[in-house]
Amino acid sequence: MLLASIVLATVLGGFLSLAVAGLIIAGLPQRWLPRLVGFATGVLLAVAFLDVLPEAIEGQAEPHSIFATLLIGIVAFFGLERIALWRHAHPGEEAKVELHAHHHHHAIGNDTILSVMVGDSFHNFVDGVMLAATFLVNPALGWSTTLGVIAHEIPQEAGDFALMRSAGMSTSRALCFNALSSLMSIAGGVIGYFALSHLHGLLPYCLAVAAASFMYIAISDLLPLLRREAHFQTSVGQIVAMLAGILLIAVSNLWGAH
Ligand SMILES: [Zn+2]
Repeated sequence: MLLASIVLATVLGGFLSLAVAGLIIAGLPQRWLPRLVGFATGVLLAVAFLDVLPEAIEGQAEPHSIFATLLIGIVAFFGLERIALWRHAHPGEEAKVELHAHHHHHAIGNDTILSVMVGDSFHNFVDGVMLAATFLVNPALGWSTTLGVIAHEIPQEAGDFALMRSAGMSTSRALCFNALSSLMSIAGGVIGYFALSHLHGLLPYCLAVAAASFMYIAISDLLPLLRREAHFQTSVGQIVAMLAGILLIAVSNLWGAH
């Protein structure tokens, strides 16, 4: 039953976000992108600070070691990103690449696509393991973490898709590549479930790493995209969208508590 929930959550995190990303690429008005990214940022930060971290502290682990793990996680994600294993999309940049694709086709080579694929697959696998950990702690926490995964996978997959299209890949091939890398999260969920079922002492640390991942993506990848917008009205829209994302998680927590 728990395993079925984990598999469903990883499928939702991978394929639902892929479908939404496809729709965005297909026809979402450009002006909606900042709001979508703002909303995703709010969801990620709220899931990390209101759900995952408090739950990690409530476990048997020592708060000092939980926060040390959080710190190590943030530094490790920066390190992984620098060696291209934890690459997250910068949809704005890649949309621009898409627009100018016919001018410099040579700019995006197969090795870039390959490193995107390897990085995404690894990232999705870790997401799957994190989801398994949160479901093992508490299914309600698992579902709100699923929302966090969907929130960051949509901009990432939309960005990857734009990148692959601008490298000259066909739509169906790009979709296929993205779907393949999404399969890795299911593998991570199943392997994580069996590995962590017997290692309950590790769960609070897995939660701290999951929180570090969400914070890192929100603050280092998504916020800089929002800061690029110069218009006052767009900025207000972003903040409102971010607050809406936070509110969604806060309200769903109240719902879960009663
Ligand atoms: Zn992810």
